[in-house]
Amino acid sequence: MSLFTTAGPSLLVPLGALGLVFGSFVTALSYRLPRGESITRGRSRCPACGHVLTIPDLVPVLSWVVQGGACRHCRAKVSWRYPAIEAVTMALFIAAGLSVDDLTHLVLLLAMTPAMVALAVIDLEYQRLPNSLSILLAALALAWRWQGDGDILAGLTAAAAVGVVGVLLDVGFRKLAGRPGLGMGDTKPFALAGLALPLGAFLLFLTIAGVLGVIYGRVWRWRLRISHFPYAPAILAAFWLCLVAGEPLLQRLVSLRIG
Ligand SMILES: [Zn+2]
Repeated sequence: MSLFTTAGPSLLVPLGALGLVFGSFVTALSYRLPRGESITRGRSRCPACGHVLTIPDLVPVLSWVVQGGACRHCRAKVSWRYPAIEAVTMALFIAAGLSVDDLTHLVLLLAMTPAMVALAVIDLEYQRLPNSLSILLAALALAWRWQGDGDILAGLTAAAAVGVVGVLLDVGFRKLAGRPGLGMGDTKPFALAGLALPLGAFLLFLTIAGVLGVIYGRVWRWRLRISHFPYAPAILAAFWLCLVAGEPLLQRLVSLRIG
C-alpha cells in the first residue's frame, strides 16, 4: 500500500508544491554548477539585463507563463526549459508519492530526484556529469540500499564491476574502433544504480536502460544527425523508474512466468 492510499489525495498537493520548489532549485543548480558559480551565495539575476530577480520572477512555472516567457524587466526571452524542468520535477515528486510505500525511501527519493534531474540537464547541455552531484547521489543510493535489502557490500561490488566493465569497454573501443566507446562519465549513472538496486532490480534496470538508450539514441540521430550524444538522461530515467517501481515490476514478471 502506498503512502498515497493511506494519507489520501491530500498528500498530492504538498508533494506537487515541494516538487515545484525543488524544480526551481534544479534550474538554478543546473545553471550555476557548470559555470562554477556558488549555489548558496548570490541572488539569481537575469542573464541578459542583470536585474536581481525577485519573488514575482521566481514563482515556478507561473512566472514564466504570466510574463509570456520573457524577462519582466528587459523582455529578453527566457528559455522554456526552466518551466519544463520545474514541471517535470513536480510530476516526478507526485509519481514518487504515488508509488513508494516506505517513508524513509520516499524521503531519500525526494532528495535523489532533484539531483538526478540536475545531472540529466547538465549532461544534455554540457555533456558532463559533475562529481559533486554524483557523490551526493552515491551517498543517497547507499542509504537507499541500506534501507532496502541492507546489502551495502553487494552494492559496492556492483558499482565496482560497472567501473571495470566501463574501463574495458573504453579500452576495447579505442583499440578496435579508434574512438572512445561509452564515455567514462556514462558509467557513473550505471554505478549509482548498482549501489542502490538489488541484483534483480539492477538487471531489470540494465534492460530498461538498454531499450531506452536505443530509442533515445535513434531520436538524437534522427533529430540532430549526430552520432555522439549525452546518454546519461536515458540511463537516469531507467534508474529512477527502477527505484520507484523495480520491485513491483519484477514481481509481476516473475508471476507471469510462474502463471
Ligand atoms: Zn532581463
